[in-house]
Amino acid sequence: MSNYEMKKEVVEACHVLSGMGYLAGIGGNLAIRVADRMAVTPSAADYFSMKPDDICIMDIHSLEVLEGDRSPSVESGLHALFFRKRPEIKASVHTHQPVASAMALLNRNIPMLSGEEQRELGEKVPVVGYGPSGTGMLVNALKKKLSPHLNGYLLRNHGIICGARSMDQAIRNVRLIEKAAARYIAEAITSNRGSRPVATVDQALASLAEYQQI
Ligand SMILES: [Zn+2]
Repeated sequence: MSNYEMKKEVVEACHVLSGMGYLAGIGGNLAIRVADRMAVTPSAADYFSMKPDDICIMDIHSLEVLEGDRSPSVESGLHALFFRKRPEIKASVHTHQPVASAMALLNRNIPMLSGEEQRELGEKVPVVGYGPSGTGMLVNALKKKLSPHLNGYLLRNHGIICGARSMDQAIRNVRLIEKAAARYIAEAITSNRGSRPVATVDQALASLAEYQQI
């Protein structure tokens, strides 16, 4: 795949994820890899108007920018780590998606229950220890947790990162994680409803049910 084709695929994925509400206005970034290079979104990106020329091509080992005038995403190191440690991973997506990010704030792993969830992501989406955005500390925290059997991770107090063998599947995984997080929180609320005003609980459960439909 040429550098241009890689950039185009990243742009298309940005448009899809923005349309789904996972990137626009709330940050996030993504990358695809071919051999030892990756195409990654630039920092401070407007995902709706992204063009192939905005995308950076980087070496996954040295993080040298091989092509592109813009600064690469501050989380390039996270994507590169995924690609270096997991050769079968071809696409990596980082989002601040609302429900799964709530789990990252609660410091709770998301159990994967359905056949598809377990096949694509493993038995859980675990929480990775905290590191500030764009730092080596965050990359090291992910490195410590990275497992050959788990394809999604919650970044403590921050968001998620997930990988897959293709960008289509990575996007699918983003949705699976959001649905599973909504299911977990809905179940926790239901089993804990006690004497709370019923209308409030029902309202919360109705909102979470919407996230489980996506
Ligand atoms: Zn982030």
